[in-house]
Amino acid sequence: MIPSRASFRDIPLYSPSKTPCRVDLGDNTNLFGVAPAAERVLRESAPALLSRYPRGYAPDLRGALAARVGVAPEAVTTGCGSDDVLDSALRAFLEPGEVLAFHVPTFVMMPLFARVNGLRVRQVPPREDFDLDAEALLATEAKVLYLCSPNNPTGTVLSRAAVERVVERAPGLVIIDEAYADFARGPDFMDLARTRPNVLVTRTFSKAWGLAGMRVGWGVGAPALVAELEKARGPYKLTTLAEAMAVAVLEEGSDWVAARAALAVENRERLRAELVALGLSPLPSEGNFLLVPLPGAVQVAERMRERDVNVRAFQALPGVGDALRIGSGPWPLLETALVALRESLR
Ligand code: PMP
Repeated sequence: MIPSRASFRDIPLYSPSKTPCRVDLGDNTNLFGVAPAAERVLRESAPALLSRYPRGYAPDLRGALAARVGVAPEAVTTGCGSDDVLDSALRAFLEPGEVLAFHVPTFVMMPLFARVNGLRVRQVPPREDFDLDAEALLATEAKVLYLCSPNNPTGTVLSRAAVERVVERAPGLVIIDEAYADFARGPDFMDLARTRPNVLVTRTFSKAWGLAGMRVGWGVGAPALVAELEKARGPYKLTTLAEAMAVAVLEEGSDWVAARAALAVENRERLRAELVALGLSPLPSEGNFLLVPLPGAVQVAERMRERDVNVRAFQALPGVGDALRIGSGPWPLLETALVALRESLR
């Protein structure tokens, strides 16, 4: 076999467990389904579209997002999921060997993107209340800092004071991942992307917006910053159909999205009450999921899987320990999951 890059060889392939099961609460997607506006695009699209390349850099979606957020189209980037936007940002702003720093626990792909891009990583443990330890993060002196709010997997939000302190003092780029912003009550950090030269806020159509299968992510930052990021990801990362669906959901489906997000939040709290009744203590959450500290979570998740219910298990999370992450959605699905959980705890 031809050897790959030395620093690359022992990186594992990230393999999400995607064997179909009856109730899948494992990936925080929109379990209410897809917005009618996106279905309409699918029905009405001409097959002739598919044999030609999309336009580079998704100009229609960029324009629609820019209008929604109140920035120039040059301040918006898009990608094949926000994964692609995050990965491209690391490539554009860090040389191999330089340092990416982030708080832990957080989005599991970040260490992997760092390794694939030849970066070193500094991880900063959470404070007791799961807010950001701004001073510890700044002390890493890393040229790129990654923050996630609401954070996956904890569901907790970062305080405005801590985030602003980091943005003011950071030596380089601050990425704020807001994949779950649509479920949060408080104000988001998009204003920082509009006003600060060193902030990139990332968002996705995969969660509240119901288009995980189409792979559409986006980001907002100063036009000069976005221009560098676009170079790192290349053209055609959004398919013609994905771009058309995302634009349609933005322009015609945001009420549908907001109503489903509100229901996911309502059912998340109903689920919390049931879990508390079982003697469990889920963390406070502003996402469409709950993190439930539980010793032996991996084994519990395996027993739930035998009952055709998928939840995400974590081992030894910093500040948490073993835990289950349970996605929220239509109540009947959560009820089925609760039955499986009760049986699996025995
Ligand atoms: N950020 C966070 C915090 C996530 O949880 C996820 C999805 N698991 C992503 C980014 C990436 O999502 P996508 O690539 O589907 O936009």
